[in-house]
Amino acid sequence: MAGPGEYLPDVTEGTTCVEDLPEPKIIPRTFSHRRRPCPRCGHSSYRDGTSQRSLHDLGDLVSGRPHEIHLTYSLHYCSKCRKYFNADMSALAPPGSHYTNRVIDLAVRVVVEDGLPYRAASWHLWRDHRVFVPFATIQNWVEAGGKKGRESHRGRLSGLGVG
Ligand SMILES: [Zn+2]
Repeated sequence: MAGPGEYLPDVTEGTTCVEDLPEPKIIPRTFSHRRRPCPRCGHSSYRDGTSQRSLHDLGDLVSGRPHEIHLTYSLHYCSKCRKYFNADMSALAPPGSHYTNRVIDLAVRVVVEDGLPYRAASWHLWRDHRVFVPFATIQNWVEAGGKKGRESHRGRLSGLGVG
């Protein structure tokens, strides 16, 4: 494995626009349940519809294509709180994120544990894991992780076959 700075030639070297990247492979996934407990009061709440979000995941080095998860998730209505909530997808990705947990964990790890600068980390993720993450996004994750003191990177990475 090459160390920082030892960049190997790559067919996508020099790629600067997301539009120039290979077509992602779409992976449909579903987090839809008939009933879910309300996060506020715990009341078992029926599904009231579904919605969708897209998540960038670790890609496929054999095909060279990024993986994009098209996630369908259930919306629930708590009749006690009179509020809507989403099915809990935090096992897969943080709320509002465009990337899966394992992409974030890996990106933070290569910076914090392996000591790669942000730009090199961004390139490493693309070259070795086929996921495109702007270096500023990685910087945000690392800085947010430092403030919150996340210590679960190791635990969640083991078992996923990463690293
Ligand atoms: Zn409730």
